[in-house]
Amino acid sequence: MPPVEPISRPEVVLPGISASQGIAYGPIFVYLQSDLEVPEYLVEKAAWAAEAGRFEQALLVTRRQIQKIMAEVEKNLGEQEARIFDAHLLVLEDQALIAETLREFEKTRVNIETCFNKVARRYISAFEQIDDEYLRERGGDIRDVAQRVLANLLGHTGQRLINLADQRVVVANDISPSDAAGLDRSSALAIVTDSGSKTSHAVIVARSMKIPSVVGLRDLTARVQPGDIILVDGYDGVVILNPSEATLFRYGKIQREKRTRENRLLEANRLPAVTQDGVEIVLRANVEKAEEAALVLQYNADGVGLFRTEFLYLGVDAAPTEEEQYRSYRLLAEALAPRPVTIRTLDLGGDKPIASQAHLFPKENNPFLGYRAIRFCLDQIPLFKEQLRAILRASAHGRVQLMYPMISGSEEMRRANAVLEECRVELRAAGVPFDPAMPVGSMIEVPSAALSADLLARECDFFSIGTNDLIQYLMAIDRVNDRIAHLYEPTHPAVLRTLRHIVVEAHRARIKVSVCGEMAGDPNYTALLIGLGVDELSMAPPLIPAARYVLRNLKLTEAKELAQTAMAMESPAAIHALCARFAEERLRA
Ligand code: PEP
Ligand code: MG
Repeated sequence: MPPVEPISRPEVVLPGISASQGIAYGPIFVYLQSDLEVPEYLVEKAAWAAEAGRFEQALLVTRRQIQKIMAEVEKNLGEQEARIFDAHLLVLEDQALIAETLREFEKTRVNIETCFNKVARRYISAFEQIDDEYLRERGGDIRDVAQRVLANLLGHTGQRLINLADQRVVVANDISPSDAAGLDRSSALAIVTDSGSKTSHAVIVARSMKIPSVVGLRDLTARVQPGDIILVDGYDGVVILNPSEATLFRYGKIQREKRTRENRLLEANRLPAVTQDGVEIVLRANVEKAEEAALVLQYNADGVGLFRTEFLYLGVDAAPTEEEQYRSYRLLAEALAPRPVTIRTLDLGGDKPIASQAHLFPKENNPFLGYRAIRFCLDQIPLFKEQLRAILRASAHGRVQLMYPMISGSEEMRRANAVLEECRVELRAAGVPFDPAMPVGSMIEVPSAALSADLLARECDFFSIGTNDLIQYLMAIDRVNDRIAHLYEPTHPAVLRTLRHIVVEAHRARIKVSVCGEMAGDPNYTALLIGLGVDELSMAPPLIPAARYVLRNLKLTEAKELAQTAMAMESPAAIHALCARFAEERLRA
């Protein structure tokens, strides 16, 4: 912790949502995103052409600024993070927005910034009213770009976080992705915000920059006072205003322990994931693009347990062709062979609508219960078949497995498999090679699939439990709504019973069960899941070292006892505490 004199204001502990891990401590820098003041005046006839030219120029300058940010982000963080700004460039190219601004100018003849501001605000408020977090965030993109265009028209650059004079914790009502990307890692100690969720783009940037972050603090910006010192605990999602000496001492110790532990886990990560009683547990990686193969190998994962292929569709103007998909799947399969690569068919819809297919997704009141994943694919057969053919073709170049998302029961599985069989027939007729024995599984993430696991298992080569959705649907908790996030409980008895039921039915049918939701990557639950009988765990590559460490420091018999004890308990909090204590002991060993 940097040496900062604690001040004599009372300590206040504020819970939020953990968005990026790490602990930081320091003086605050309050950043309030506020709209720029736009003066309004009539433009004389002689200057009408020049006014439109001024608009064009501002769009051009803004485009260059965003491209510069993109280049910096790509250099510092990588291509994927830079892609976030594609959405910003698209706003600048939005012909409707530009034409409407010019029409407004022709109609009113007031200065172009006033016209643009009016039109952009209309767009932003339309997006903000959409009952869908992802689309609301697109409203944020438009707001961010509009403020840049206005700043360029008005001739000033506005407040930018990049200019933090010294080391500060940034306290903001909200921050945009470009604000976050513009932060200097050495001066921004942490980011805490009133609003936000784990899925917001700014948080994604913070996470990849390894800047600790807690979001969803509601009224923090109103609570802080000049001179306040803040401690940010990105592990537990807590911020502490004006921490006492005792708190600082405690956190100093926690921070040292976390660092030592992280290094220890990394050192042990080359060793096999074998329990002390000699049982090997398969640890695989979740990936979003083929280029992550290197990360899979770096973290010593046994291949890929979940390739979220819908990410091939995000941030591009046109849907990827069969050929492009094939190349992507083949790249991953070849890079990781003989390790398996589990390719999940498209899971579009829900919180993942995409621009290039927007016309296929009508507005729905409950997108998570709507036109999503396998339901969408079975209704869009040509698009589904393109993907299935691409996966089959890639199976000739490595160990490919296929699974469908959001399957609700055995009949739906059979329908999907029938389409797959059509693709096999077509490829065979065309003499295109593929692996005829490619394993085909079902994700178990809908309660009806879990409850009819015995029937579904007959149609499957394996199960992969998507706990993110399964828990959301079991408990009726929208997984992206920060207001009810605290009610989302992986250790609820209903969740445990459902997991156990799935495992029992799968094993009765002699098929394996993997868990690929976030629960699999939380070391608190490694022993519980294994104890419940889960065969494989799949998670984001950087989470693998902790899971492996826990596994190497337990006996399968102990994990089973833990699961049995948990199954006999009632309180989700008590079950969580039991699991956390067990994990803590093993991680310390
Ligand atoms: C899940 O639901 O747990 C899962 C792995 O799929 P996604 O998070 O992509 O919905
Ligand atoms: Mg899911």
